[in-house]
Amino acid sequence: MSSSKSEEKVEKRFQGIGVAPGIAHAQVVIHWVDDEEIPLRDISSEELPEEIARFESALIATRAELLEIQQRIADAIGSKDASVFDAHLLVVEDRTLIDEVLRGLDQSRHNVEHIFHQVAEKYCRTLGEIDDPYLRERVVDIEDVARRVIRNLLGKAPRNLATQDNAHLIVSHNLTPSDTASINRELVLGFATEQGSKTSHTAIMARSMGIPAIVGLHDICSKLTSGDDVLLDGYSGLLILNPTPNTLWEYGGIEQEKEKVEETLELIRDTSSTTSDGRHVILSANIELPEELDDVIASGSEGVGLYRTEFLYLNRSTPPDEEEQYENYRLVAERVQPHSVIIRTLDVGGDKDSQCLDMEEEENPFLGCRAIRFCLQNPEIFKVQLRAILRAAAIGNVRLMYPMISSVEELRQANALLEECKEELRAQGADFNPNLDVGIMIEIPGAALAASHLAREVKFFSIGTNDLIQYTLAVDRVNDQIAHLYEPTHPAVIRLLKIIVDAAHEQGIWVGVCGEMAADIELTPLLLGLGVDELSASSSVVPRIKKAVQSLDLPSCQKLIEEVLALDTSSAILGKSLAVAHSRYSDLLN
Ligand code: PEP
Ligand code: MG
Repeated sequence: MSSSKSEEKVEKRFQGIGVAPGIAHAQVVIHWVDDEEIPLRDISSEELPEEIARFESALIATRAELLEIQQRIADAIGSKDASVFDAHLLVVEDRTLIDEVLRGLDQSRHNVEHIFHQVAEKYCRTLGEIDDPYLRERVVDIEDVARRVIRNLLGKAPRNLATQDNAHLIVSHNLTPSDTASINRELVLGFATEQGSKTSHTAIMARSMGIPAIVGLHDICSKLTSGDDVLLDGYSGLLILNPTPNTLWEYGGIEQEKEKVEETLELIRDTSSTTSDGRHVILSANIELPEELDDVIASGSEGVGLYRTEFLYLNRSTPPDEEEQYENYRLVAERVQPHSVIIRTLDVGGDKDSQCLDMEEEENPFLGCRAIRFCLQNPEIFKVQLRAILRAAAIGNVRLMYPMISSVEELRQANALLEECKEELRAQGADFNPNLDVGIMIEIPGAALAASHLAREVKFFSIGTNDLIQYTLAVDRVNDQIAHLYEPTHPAVIRLLKIIVDAAHEQGIWVGVCGEMAADIELTPLLLGLGVDELSASSSVVPRIKKAVQSLDLPSCQKLIEEVLALDTSSAILGKSLAVAHSRYSDLLN
């Protein structure tokens, strides 16, 4: 039995990896997201009536669960939103599906969870193959309902992410980027997961949404119970069960200190991110959703340096059409004017799975049909996005960026499709900007080494250090077991960054960093020393980076780079950078 379930409420601390800053104190809700393991058993003819009875009870319980959720949503936000659960209710009443399960039970004599799972999967597959948006929508409903029925058959508590109407903390084995994107910011004060790492998209989302978060808390789900009183420290990665009054008092003090720093940062909000010796480094913000634009503007950043548009394609059953995308990009471009927005084209795959795009399951998704590779194999999907971007570029200051480019050929193929889109828009008489700047992300070591070739064919580079590090060091960026090997200051990474920046400058184009290295102010001296022209990070860290840039001078950073290029370990390089950072802005470092 977990300690939290015992009578006495003793304080207990669990150490994970803090990935999004902030402190939150509330009751937890354990969120079970992973698919259940479904047992397979033979059943005798005597057991058959019992299996049927279990199935009927599970359907009744699931129906009651759905009605309860519907009621809660209706009370909280209105009956229109609650009506989305009507379709779910129809699934538990679907006679064809129920009859097929009963027939399966009779014929194969296996336990009902197994039969039900097989039938539901077959339904989803068949519906998913039909080219009808309404039927495809129902696949998502059936999957959700099927999970609920199976949890009821297995005697487990219902999933409850969507059912909470009080402020709470989520604790889960894992959260997908889609789960995170659907989190209600008003009610979810923080989250903690057993899996994950600092550069997983879930962690990146948490930072963007300003939700304190911890990952890598092994077995935490079995150590807590929904309703437990928990304090979550997203700075240090500490999760504290049953915090004592002393702990709460101590954290009150920490929050006050953090607020003081925030107040000083507020004072420099409208100043320029220029080093003390006068070098202006453009400081922009990364976004996943247009909802983040208020924060971007409030942060004092110079526009959007990375718009991860794939989030538009998550949590839905049909991809956004050209009109919807155009409206979305136009809105972002208008809001950030006079600054620019760099719209990165669809980067699905890896840890971002889009239900609406019919993607194949892969053995190694990060090395598979991801990002530009998926787009080049699915030009009909890619071109919808390219046309929308070209049109939005007629209204605002829009740049276009391809992710995961690995070769000049790939870049040219993408550009050929872009030219086709221009022709199509011209033929339609549509308003668009044929001269928008096109750049690429450099996030594959091969592209870094070929940067001098690539630089001749683009207007800018933006370095995706999250992927560049994972591919250079062969460390899966979302695998917490090997997170200690994920070293941004590895000598190989520093060398690759230097090759990229030098190649860009020799060719007269600008180069930015939009991976999480840009957000880490311990590393700002290194990036400035390398000579990057732009830094782009979540708006929540923009003020800190600005202060760091203003506190540094270029000659010291360049000297640092000369020194670290001679060093052979990540820790030695990090130590040198930290020494500079501490000497200039120790108040900002945790
Ligand atoms: C990166 O790889 O550094 C990057 C910014 O892209 P993403 O994190 O979306 O893969
Ligand atoms: Mg990337």
